[in-house]
Amino acid sequence: MTHLAAFYDNPDWTLARNVGIFFLAILWFATAFWTFKDARRRIEEPWFIALATLIGLVPPFLGPVIYLFFRPPEYLQDVLERDLEIKAMEERLAQLDQRCPVCRARVEPSYLVCPVCTTRLKQSCASCGQPLEALWQLCPYCAAVVPPVLPVLEDVSEPIRPTRSTRANE
Ligand SMILES: [Zn+2]
Ligand SMILES: [Zn+2]
Repeated sequence: MTHLAAFYDNPDWTLARNVGIFFLAILWFATAFWTFKDARRRIEEPWFIALATLIGLVPPFLGPVIYLFFRPPEYLQDVLERDLEIKAMEERLAQLDQRCPVCRARVEPSYLVCPVCTTRLKQSCASCGQPLEALWQLCPYCAAVVPPVLPVLEDVSEPIRPTRSTRANE
């Protein structure tokens, strides 16, 4: 027993032990810091990032392993990019699937009026007759200037009723 006590009192052993503790502490903080960095890339909520960092600190070394089991599978950046991709795809699909604002019937981009409810959808070019978008200032098909005052919005909200006018003519 006295031999053992003498061994522990040995200054070399004390130094080796302190160096060992020092490196263990560095490793401990490094693993906790890794947990924090990884959590920040995967978790949006600051409270959960703090919790993950705490788990990364305590219990030492085991905490980051526990964190690995429960961390979100994806980086926030990847989730964001995928969401943007889905949104862009939906917009492309929406452009393919244009509908009448009044009766929701499917209409082609070239339609001037809705064939179902006769709502005016677009103005036609006075020069070439092509359908014009509401914001266009020049006709892209014949380069004719589109008259600036266009009652397009009123036309959209107020359906044209040819049946009534023909009936009035009779
Ligand atoms: Zn319609
Ligand atoms: Zn034109």
